[in-house]
Amino acid sequence: MAERKNGMIALFDVDGTLTAPRKVVTPKMLEFMQNLRKVITVGVVGGSDHVKITEQLGKSVVNDYDYVFSENGLVARKDGELIGTESLKSFLGDDKLKEFINFTLHYIADLDIPIKRGTFIEFRSGMINVSPIGRNCSQEERDDFEKYDKVQNIRPKMVSVLREKFAHFGLTFSIGGQISFDVFPQGWDKTYCLRYLEKYEVIHFFGDKTYKGGNDHEIYESARTIGHTVTSPDDTIEQCTALFLSK
Ligand SMILES: [Mg+2]
Repeated sequence: MAERKNGMIALFDVDGTLTAPRKVVTPKMLEFMQNLRKVITVGVVGGSDHVKITEQLGKSVVNDYDYVFSENGLVARKDGELIGTESLKSFLGDDKLKEFINFTLHYIADLDIPIKRGTFIEFRSGMINVSPIGRNCSQEERDDFEKYDKVQNIRPKMVSVLREKFAHFGLTFSIGGQISFDVFPQGWDKTYCLRYLEKYEVIHFFGDKTYKGGNDHEIYESARTIGHTVTSPDDTIEQCTALFLSK
């Protein structure tokens, strides 16, 4: 193996950066990453949990990358070994969690929208996902809710109420997708994983949603990283080739 550039790491978002949106990684990308890894330390940071990242990047993901950060780094692995975990439950504690969930369920119960289904709150290890219509609605119902929400601002109104009511909890609210929004502690975006990379002087980050409001924005803007915006997995390969593999 050739000498790797000391003190430097290339860190990649998963969805839209290493794979097409919601698709699995291609053999071409797998091969490229193994070649890149010969010259530079490589890591991935995704918002999904480890199971989902494994589905997208393959079962060998922990062997293919030096670092694998799932849930933005709340679950951290280096050389295949778990090096850190953090959860919303330990951050807030059960009393605050219950207060938040009770208030949110009451709010949804009083909400007059055309239809409701099931699973209004999904509790994940690093976040709570809240859906006014309920997550187990059909695709058609999703589409209808999204249109309705654009006119009626159901989610933005709900977020502004929660933000004010729970200002002292230190939470961030992020509206994404069609039917829900995420609630997580401030700072638990992708910059969370940077605490594991302190020994690297230069951190190159590659992501597709680097614009304000996108889930790569904070780490892209961070003073700790050199941010690169990519438009597709092929663009990732092109930019990395130019940066790291051409003489
Ligand atoms: Mg992405």
